[in-house]
Amino acid sequence: MANALAIRFGKLHDNLGEPRSNGVVVIEGERIAAVGDSEMPLPEGARVVEAGCLVPGLINAHAHLEGSGEPNTMRVFVETNATQRAYACAENARRALEAGVTSVRDLGATGTLAIDLRDAIGAGKLPGPNIVAAGTAICMTGGHGWFIGRQADGPWDVRKAVREIRHAGADCIKFIATGGVLTKGAVPGIEQLSEEELRAGIGEAHTHGMRCAAHAIGTGGIKNALRAGIDSIEHGHLIDAEGIALALEHETYLVPTLAAIRCIVDAGPEAGMPDFVLRKAREIAEQAEINLRAARAAGVKFAGGSDAATPFNYHYAYYYEVELMQTMLGMSAREALYATTVNSADLLGLPRGRIAPGAVADLLALESDIETDLRALRTPTLVVKSGAIAFQRS
Ligand SMILES: [Zn+2]
Repeated sequence: MANALAIRFGKLHDNLGEPRSNGVVVIEGERIAAVGDSEMPLPEGARVVEAGCLVPGLINAHAHLEGSGEPNTMRVFVETNATQRAYACAENARRALEAGVTSVRDLGATGTLAIDLRDAIGAGKLPGPNIVAAGTAICMTGGHGWFIGRQADGPWDVRKAVREIRHAGADCIKFIATGGVLTKGAVPGIEQLSEEELRAGIGEAHTHGMRCAAHAIGTGGIKNALRAGIDSIEHGHLIDAEGIALALEHETYLVPTLAAIRCIVDAGPEAGMPDFVLRKAREIAEQAEINLRAARAAGVKFAGGSDAATPFNYHYAYYYEVELMQTMLGMSAREALYATTVNSADLLGLPRGRIAPGAVADLLALESDIETDLRALRTPTLVVKSGAIAFQRS
């Protein structure tokens, strides 16, 4: 076995309880062997690294590795071919990992792109995070994301689409329950796949042990997905009191994708986005913040996901989503970290997100404590995935 890695920390956020000060984490193989105080004897020959602060690797529960944050999403799929997007997909995965994202759920790509990248990374052929892949998203004919989706209409067709996507190797299923911002002509507030269609598809997926996520911005579509038994609401921006009550009743995760809206609104009219994208994002932005704060205050569970790939929302900038959970939703630094590590891992069904003896070693060394300034996450000095150093700042 290779020599152990010992990381001496000033502060440790292990997601188990109160943060610890001045100790050491020892990693052997792919797992954490021990967590102790600064006097703990280290294994012979251990490589020793210093960290101001140590946190679990970040988990982005909503990303599209095929896209790179281009201003005009639909145009990307007209002007590039599948091979070009496959290379971009690999590059985005590598850069996300180097920036501290050790696991990603890809919620929709063309064909088997994200599934194949998952396998290439898993086999050690390419660097990147662990990937949980939804394969192709399921939408109604002409629905949001139709240009990269599997279009399906009626309960049996939706069931068949789930079977196809499972057969192609997907881990989970993504349904489009409402319109969206980036698709021309799709109105975010309007329902798309019906409750009946969602119920059929979710039932089929659950039969095979696959979890389900719903793209749902509009009030009605959010409630359709919740009543149909969805495992996570993605975006959830126009959720109302009844939707909040349903999310609580079903213990459904909400993945707020704050960066997706924020990056569009902040980029503004001169940034090269289609006019309809900026208009729709602006219409949603203010209401989204109010509704999501209400959901959080009511006790809805939040998991972290940025929708990386949307305009100016980069795979390597997931730290921005964590920061927005603090600035927009009012979470403390520790709560935002918990949502984007433990809760995301729980939603994805991954045994990750905590730093404890026996756990898989996914962690980030930072220069300073996130409780002083969450922006410490922007520049990790060391990224460890499954016990191996994936990035070290020189
Ligand atoms: Zn998305």
